[in-house]
Amino acid sequence: MDNVQIFDTTLRDGEQSPGFSMNREEKLQLARQIEQLGVDIIEAGFPIASPGDLDATRAVAAEIKHCRVAALARARQEDVEAALRGLEPADKPRLHVFLATSDLHLKYKLRTTREQALEQIAKMVRYGRQNCDEVEFSAEDASRTDIDYLCQVVLAAVESGATIINLPDTVGYSTPDDYGEMFRKVRARLGAHPNVVLSAHCHDDLGLALPNSLAAIDAGVRQIECTINGIGERAGNASLEELAVVLHVRQDRYQVTTNIKLEMLYPTSRMLSKITNVSVPPNKAVVGANAFAHEAGIHQDGILKNPLTYEIIVPEKVGVPARRLVLGKHSGRNAYRSRLAELGYETTDVELAECYRLAIALADAGKEITDRDLVSIIHKVRRQPATANAR
Ligand SMILES: [Zn+2]
Repeated sequence: MDNVQIFDTTLRDGEQSPGFSMNREEKLQLARQIEQLGVDIIEAGFPIASPGDLDATRAVAAEIKHCRVAALARARQEDVEAALRGLEPADKPRLHVFLATSDLHLKYKLRTTREQALEQIAKMVRYGRQNCDEVEFSAEDASRTDIDYLCQVVLAAVESGATIINLPDTVGYSTPDDYGEMFRKVRARLGAHPNVVLSAHCHDDLGLALPNSLAAIDAGVRQIECTINGIGERAGNASLEELAVVLHVRQDRYQVTTNIKLEMLYPTSRMLSKITNVSVPPNKAVVGANAFAHEAGIHQDGILKNPLTYEIIVPEKVGVPARRLVLGKHSGRNAYRSRLAELGYETTDVELAECYRLAIALADAGKEITDRDLVSIIHKVRRQPATANAR
């Protein structure tokens, strides 16, 4: 089975989104955790952006030794030099050079022509490759770039020394069919360079970052750029935890592996939330507070009989301490019996019936039944003569 390389850009694309700025120490702490998580490449920063970004990139490059460390640069001399300075302490550096290639970006943003952009890409990739063992080239806005021109760009970058070609859906506009098709066409044009790794980088503006990344894998892409909790520009990037879990749970479908240690997913997600003070929505897949919470009685009953009835992932597998059976008005007797037993109270049928009646009344009036509520209910029930006698 093929291995898909996981390129984590939490510290670069993620960090540059509003509310997610991190200082050097915070970046280092997160980088250590992401290395433990088993990603293959950590993008540490965009060194030309600020002296602080350069410094943090150097710090990450100096400390992270198991995975490769990447630094981003526009296809400009001063950017590439700053990125190379950031990567100096790295054992396994990767220079990541990019330039926009869609006509929209070329004309209005860069005010240049296709021909000039091609030249600039070739020149900067060649210069980068002379100073760094590994160069990745990204064609910004690739998904809105004329496909023939995109193929010329890719060939120019590869012939100048890039061995990883990233074709991002920069604005989150593509659909899975279109995105996969783009990679198939580019791969066909790369016939003479079978070892070039194609990479996907998707944004979630239409909620398609993950499906687009999966379509890319189907089209033979073997590096995916993603972030913890899916943070990133605007609506964010593909979420690393969702991607890793899809590829694990549906390995039958995708037929690829990753090096991610799944049990580290939840602790890593929590660390990012803690550092940035931004929590994930409760209904977020894999790492949300409700991802393994069950309240409906029919579901709780099923889970207690066999977790596979309503769970496709064992919570412990992704590092979630335990599934949560939320006791409320939708819960059934079996859930109450099970929670009481966990709290040390084995109940008779009569006791349980009375506990259940009192708990439902309380839940109807308020919200969630806490363990403390349950303990006080069972004590109350046991003090009542009728149920005490029945024991
Ligand atoms: Zn991005």
